[in-house]
Amino acid sequence: MNFNGNHKISIKIEKEVDHCAMAENPMRDDAFSLDDEMKIALIKEKFEDILSIIGLHLNDDSIADTPHRIAKMYINEIFSGLNPKNRPEITLFENKYNYHSPLIEMNIPFTSFCEHHFVPIIGNANIAYIPNNYVIGLSKLHRITDYYAKRPQVQERLTQQIHKDLTETMQTSNVGIVLKASHTCISCRGVADHGSSTITSVFSGKIADDSTIISLLRGN
Ligand SMILES: [Zn+2]
Repeated sequence: MNFNGNHKISIKIEKEVDHCAMAENPMRDDAFSLDDEMKIALIKEKFEDILSIIGLHLNDDSIADTPHRIAKMYINEIFSGLNPKNRPEITLFENKYNYHSPLIEMNIPFTSFCEHHFVPIIGNANIAYIPNNYVIGLSKLHRITDYYAKRPQVQERLTQQIHKDLTETMQTSNVGIVLKASHTCISCRGVADHGSSTITSVFSGKIADDSTIISLLRGN
């Protein structure tokens, strides 16, 4: 990779990659040995058991299709980001205009799912990067965020995964990510506190040294 940078920047990148190497979802080796259709069929059976165990009648017309609906939702929608085949195709454009200032995309909405309780994490991502040789289509910042959000997650890991993908895809170390989200496992159960939010961030390269951009991304 050509980072157009000095030795100091290269060292920062290596550290960032090391750090993010830990930010993987805990996947089994055989995670994709079953096809999606088979997974949906098996999850449906398990959810029939769960609904029966909690005492619901599966022959009620409102509930009869619920296990199948949940199974399809898990595989095709809310956890589709676990499968690398669903990563969005990313188009990069040559940075012909030599734009080497920050590009900031604010308020990218996402919905993820807490891996501890399997209930939604709803929030927004703010992303900044300083292009090197390439620029990215803006909607791809949204699609990359959505791809990693569609997994059982913790917010810390989600932030790191988006950051790692963008630094590698864009071939620039100058990337900043801030996620602000509400965790429904906090609002709908447990302490049942409404209105709190959680902020996570990763900054690297020139963005890590730019307090103006950091404060903008954090919404200060
Ligand atoms: Zn939770």
